Amino acid sequence: MRIDLHTHSNASDGTDTPAELVVAARAAAKLDVVALTDHDTAEGWEPAIAALPPGLTLVPGAELSCVARHPDGGSTTMHLLAYLFDPAEPELRAERRRVRDSRINRGQLIVDRLRADGYPLRWERVRELAAGGAVGRPHIARALIELGVVSSVEEAFDRFLYTGSPYYVYKEDIDAERAVRLVRAAGGVPVFAHPLARRRGKVVGDDVIAALAAAGLGGIEVDHVDQEPADRVHLAGLARDLGLVATGSSDYHGCNKKIPLGANLTDPAEYDAIVEQATGFAPVTA
Ligand code: AMP
Ligand code: FE
Ligand code: FE
Ligand code: ZN
Repeated sequence: MRIDLHTHSNASDGTDTPAELVVAARAAAKLDVVALTDHDTAEGWEPAIAALPPGLTLVPGAELSCVARHPDGGSTTMHLLAYLFDPAEPELRAERRRVRDSRINRGQLIVDRLRADGYPLRWERVRELAAGGAVGRPHIARALIELGVVSSVEEAFDRFLYTGSPYYVYKEDIDAERAVRLVRAAGGVPVFAHPLARRRGKVVGDDVIAALAAAGLGGIEVDHVDQEPADRVHLAGLARDLGLVATGSSDYHGCNKKIPLGANLTDPAEYDAIVEQATGFAPVTA
């Protein structure tokens, strides 16, 4: 069984349409199960389900932009995967919309800062590149590539878009413990995405993961391209100690990243444990 539980379509910052993604998941990557987890949106579910090829099971999900607040007053931004929740549950739905709206204001502010420094970016072009989906920094990166300012998405992040850069603007993320509770209340299963992706910036300590587990966290992502082998070993041990599911995924983003579908996989027993915990939505098989 080839199971990839974290991918992005152009409903957020991937480049495949949801239909292209599920077709490629079966034909090119030979997956048996794929989760669609666009940032802060479930808009890709319907077109993905409509295009589902025979032999592939779709796990509808999302990746929620969150912030973990620490007792000492500090905070760390983090991503929470949410699987098989009821997309109509009003409170979680309102939070997804709030964060998507905040992505628009924040994207405009980042573009303004770049323009103020003489880069002739146009916000309209960034919106076009987002194709009606959740706007993210990778769309700004693509606009910078079109202008010849940078030659790759990585270069755009290294020079301009990294978290904490002079051009960086925060968005209005969801409090992480609240997000965990909202996902559970919507019948979904919350899984901490790439908790030790150190190259992206500050990461949380084990205490934060334990607190989220107490709030209802169901799992943590262990096998992910942005996590070093020693960190994966540590996370696998933490999952065991806390009774959490351990997952693996590609975090595929189409042409916005180099990683292919199926680059890391989830063990079938771990996948079964997620499905068993879900009551909001069922995996879909064509
Ligand atoms: P945003 O959601 O707008 O804050 O942008 C975060 C997204 O940018 C992540 O989900 C990744 O897809 C992408 N990203 C973050 N860091 C990098 C990086 N160093 N290189 C390429 N893409 C990145
Ligand atoms: Fe992304
Ligand atoms: Fe993420
Ligand atoms: Zn992701």
